[in-house]
Amino acid sequence: MFPTTIAGSLPKPFWLAETNRLWPRWRWDGADLAQAQRDAVELMVALQKRSGIDVLTDGEMGRRHFVHGFLESLEGIDFSKLVRERIRDGRYEADLPTVVGPVRRRSPVHLEEVRHLRALTGRAIKLTIPGPMTMVDTLHDEAYRDRKALAFAFAEIINAEVRELAAAGLDVVQLDEPAFNVYLDDVETWGIAALNRALDGVGCRSAVHVCYGYGIEANIAWKKSLGAVWEHYRRVLPALDASCVDEVSIECAGSCVPTELLGLLAHKHVAVGVIDVATDRVESPEEVVATVERVLEYVPRERVTLSTNCGMAPMGREVAERKLAALGEGALQARLRLGS
Ligand code: ZN
Repeated sequence: MFPTTIAGSLPKPFWLAETNRLWPRWRWDGADLAQAQRDAVELMVALQKRSGIDVLTDGEMGRRHFVHGFLESLEGIDFSKLVRERIRDGRYEADLPTVVGPVRRRSPVHLEEVRHLRALTGRAIKLTIPGPMTMVDTLHDEAYRDRKALAFAFAEIINAEVRELAAAGLDVVQLDEPAFNVYLDDVETWGIAALNRALDGVGCRSAVHVCYGYGIEANIAWKKSLGAVWEHYRRVLPALDASCVDEVSIECAGSCVPTELLGLLAHKHVAVGVIDVATDRVESPEEVVATVERVLEYVPRERVTLSTNCGMAPMGREVAERKLAALGEGALQARLRLGS
């Protein structure tokens, strides 16, 4: 009852990369970097275990950024040709690598990471990969000049990758699609189709994380501009409910998403965000239980997983550790009080 997981990322240790950054610089390179990343994964797995997390991730220690980490190893993308553009429909500026030709996977991107994670634990393991629409929205495209065509090219790549990861023992793949609640028309016309293509027959459980972004300044300002009720999911969730994905991850802690919208996911499991990542204030177990109680009005308990609202990459380490503990403790209390 109420298994726990995190959206994906955890803060990188200070000795691995710059802290409190979305695009941090690594402290090492080559073989030293690879070793430091593996050490960091072992630390993050231990941290999740002792916090009572059931479905473990690698904390995304092997990637600088949740989108570019996957794209760095693909053919057809030039990371030396960075173009500064506004992304997520103009919400904030980022330096975007350029698509210069057909995108292809030279070799598996995350296979070694999944093997490593698999060797570290008998618990279920999850890996996050950016979704096709979010990949397209975090690149400058000079080759395809067609967002849908590029998204489907990425969907093929993701599908081939996830099949190999599932065969290596991955239990859950989560596609991160924060772009879904930005481009609502595109979600309906091609976003869901691209998602289905990416997840078709992959051989493991699948999840999608849609969100209003981490607690960075641009996102906090955007959220303020959205008013008291965030209605994007009224269109996104029915589309996701008709998709092939098994689980949908939604931020419910301190967000303005009306809880009743979760009722639109009649056929899905829901990873309920019970820990807010946009504030350093740590949730009490009572607050976690209250969020779960609210959700249970619309989602049956057997379809509820407890999670963080979003990734914790840009947070302080100490706060993140306390929030992980709050997630584990809150889940324990929720099982005791609401479990039957
Ligand atoms: Zn998120």
